[in-house]
Amino acid sequence: MVASLKARGYIRSPEVERAMSIVPRHLFLPADVRGEAYSDTPLSIGEGQTISAPHMVAMMAEALELRPGHKVLEIGTGSGYNAAVMAEVVGKEGSTITIERHASLAEKARIALREAGYDNVSVMTGDGSIGHEEGAPYDRIAVTCGAPSIPRPLMDQLKDGGLLVIPVGGLSYQSLLRVRKMGQNISTEDLGSVVFVPLLGEKGHRPSDQVR
Ligand code: SAH
Repeated sequence: MVASLKARGYIRSPEVERAMSIVPRHLFLPADVRGEAYSDTPLSIGEGQTISAPHMVAMMAEALELRPGHKVLEIGTGSGYNAAVMAEVVGKEGSTITIERHASLAEKARIALREAGYDNVSVMTGDGSIGHEEGAPYDRIAVTCGAPSIPRPLMDQLKDGGLLVIPVGGLSYQSLLRVRKMGQNISTEDLGSVVFVPLLGEKGHRPSDQVR
């Protein structure tokens, strides 16, 4: 899997290559789809949610320019796999807080993260569209669900010089944006079209938006 992601240009740095070679993706999957763990495909994890395809995890990790020691916030824990990859890159000196709105998924992710040995990840249950003020500021913020726009609280909770990666757009597809905060200046780069499940919540889509 890693060799193919590298050959296709998704993995570019030794840090991300090492992390994705180490994190056991099968531990983050329900038993019925474990056989597919090392295929480059999103998979169903329950509650109508999906674990992102490995190439998307690689793309986000590279876009975030993660380094050892970084303090990371993730919105949308899902299976916990993406959090584990980021935790592996930031190492023991770093830390990762991840927020999931479905308590059942948060609990499964906690178990998988513990089993895989990532005790530097805290899984919270709640609405991540407003971020997590208590742990701010963050060096990096990764949003792994599609937002209608960039939630203001996330920009406020990002460190000066920090990076936020977030899919922004409608319910069927989004643009993956990389946002850099430099004092009062914000620069935004579009990394291409992506498909994520929606960010639901106060600064996200309304649950009723989905019924159409
Ligand atoms: N990073 C995940 C993929 C997650 S799919 C992985 O590695 O498996 C996106 C997740 O975002 C879903 O589990 C969904 O329930 C969650 N989500 C959607 N809106 C949210 C919100 N406002 N706060 C926290 N989690 C949210």
